[in-house]
Amino acid sequence: MDPRTSILIGSITCALMAIVVTSLARATPLPVPGFKAWVVGAWMIFGALLMLGLRDWVPQLASVTLGNCLLMLAYVVWLSGTLEYFGKQLKWVPWLVFVAVATIAVSWFVYSEASFRARVVIVAGVCAVINAYHASIVWHSARKRDDARATGITATLVWLTALVLIYGIRSVHALVFPQGDSGLLTQNLTQIIYTGSFTVCNMMLVISFATMASDFVRAFIEVLATRDPLTGVLNRRALINAIELEFSHSQRHGHSFCIAMLDIDHFKSINDRFGHLVGDQILTTMCKKVGNLLRPHDVFARYGGEEFLILMPETGLSNAMQAAQRLLGAVAISEDDALPAITVSIGLAEWSTDDDSIESLIARADGALYVAKTNGRNCIEIAPALSMA
Ligand code: GH3
Ligand code: MG
Ligand code: MG
Repeated sequence: MDPRTSILIGSITCALMAIVVTSLARATPLPVPGFKAWVVGAWMIFGALLMLGLRDWVPQLASVTLGNCLLMLAYVVWLSGTLEYFGKQLKWVPWLVFVAVATIAVSWFVYSEASFRARVVIVAGVCAVINAYHASIVWHSARKRDDARATGITATLVWLTALVLIYGIRSVHALVFPQGDSGLLTQNLTQIIYTGSFTVCNMMLVISFATMASDFVRAFIEVLATRDPLTGVLNRRALINAIELEFSHSQRHGHSFCIAMLDIDHFKSINDRFGHLVGDQILTTMCKKVGNLLRPHDVFARYGGEEFLILMPETGLSNAMQAAQRLLGAVAISEDDALPAITVSIGLAEWSTDDDSIESLIARADGALYVAKTNGRNCIEIAPALSMA
């Protein structure tokens, strides 16, 4: 296969990929930051490869100058998409100046002092620099977000690195070794490997961007399905899943765990006196406070209205009691003068082998909460062991 064929096939493949990602971008149930830029970049790569592949059939201005300029710009546009994905913005001016200077230099080596070798050093070098910066952005942003293992991000990192290596090696190769009278379309092994491999990398990068977009949508839907929209803590469904998991774990290994049901005292009258918006603020503030006080493996969820449930895995009753006392004390201390002070009541239940379902365990915690309310509120009650109940 000669380089022209491989470049033109690369261009057609890129067009097909661009069509796919364009329709994906239109079909996403929510806007994915950066996706539009990735789509535009894919179309630009298609255009660039088409122009480069038509070398000798169209004027040099279109093929060499515009083709290479479009290729370098496409990588800058892809970079801007990735930055947007991670909530950042590209500083366009220095990158555009960088590409403009490279384009002027390329044109110089077309019209003034024709040198394919110099053009390769410049274009491949610039593409390597842009993609290396792009790869470093993906690497650092993913590590900060703690989602380095997300499929799309890993794939993007792999293909960007491959692209940097290909462009880097090609640029250094052209710098060090004489290129004879070869051109982009000369049929030698270096050119065929070069054009073939960057085509594959571009195609795989488009697929990786699409995977990043679908990872984003999936993560968003996961949050919708498992989180309470007002307070951001887990919802009842996610909580039941967590308790079921701990329940079967305890049945297998015999270790204990506790649940605490927490209910704000006289919340209805707070709502009546200060309004629902203040009520909502109280709920959010309390959740933040409780969340900060719990251990990382404790599960805190909104069970309903102003009732919350805390699952304390692998925790005995005395430790759970200490945790509950800590919460009771902390909630009663008002840190925000704009919000009325509140207190909570807590019902605590420890799992026992006699609990045959999670419903019975939750019912025991609920029963203990009821006793705490009748005992005057702002206190903790422990559900009696099943055999005594
Ligand atoms: P007790 O001390 O016995 O728990 O009394 P209470 O007033 O807290 O309990 P009750 O069950 O009578 O009232 C619960 C109130 O919680 C009623 C409801 O309007 C309020 N509530 C439930 N969900 C929300 C919410 O999302 N936002 C606000 N602002 N209020 C809520
Ligand atoms: Mg209440
Ligand atoms: Mg209640």
